[in-house]
Amino acid sequence: MRCPFCGNIDTQVKDSRPAEDHVSIRRRRFCQACGGRFTTYERVQLRDLVVIKSSGKREDFDRTKLERSIRIAMQKRPIEPERIDQMISGIVRRLESLGDTDISSKQIGEIVMESLARIDTVAYVRFASVYKNFQAADDFDRFVSELRPPQAAEE
Ligand SMILES: [Zn+2]
Repeated sequence: MRCPFCGNIDTQVKDSRPAEDHVSIRRRRFCQACGGRFTTYERVQLRDLVVIKSSGKREDFDRTKLERSIRIAMQKRPIEPERIDQMISGIVRRLESLGDTDISSKQIGEIVMESLARIDTVAYVRFASVYKNFQAADDFDRFVSELRPPQAAEE
């Protein structure tokens, strides 16, 4: 670990112990070049998620794609942006904690619908109605383009 004070690469760990929350390890480090002391935390990095499409194709999970579809479903709804961000983070955390890095697109859609249903019925209906077709099409870009503001979605 590079010393943040002098840039020396050769620093020593003086002490390691679990932090209070027990989800990280705290390491006290010492730089032999400048005598600087600093602390680092080591945390679990959940592995990257892979989306399994209904066709069986695998694709890296892309948070921005998820965000895009949710934001479109939420368009012009009276929901604060922070609330939407929170919801998206919550969805990603749920996906990460499913215990498997391989997640079906169906599972993702269901978790998104569950979350939307709790926050905004209109956004939920928009998402759910497009999602039905999406399962057959299995094409996310098409899914997003079909997910339009209300006037376009209404028949
Ligand atoms: Zn140093």
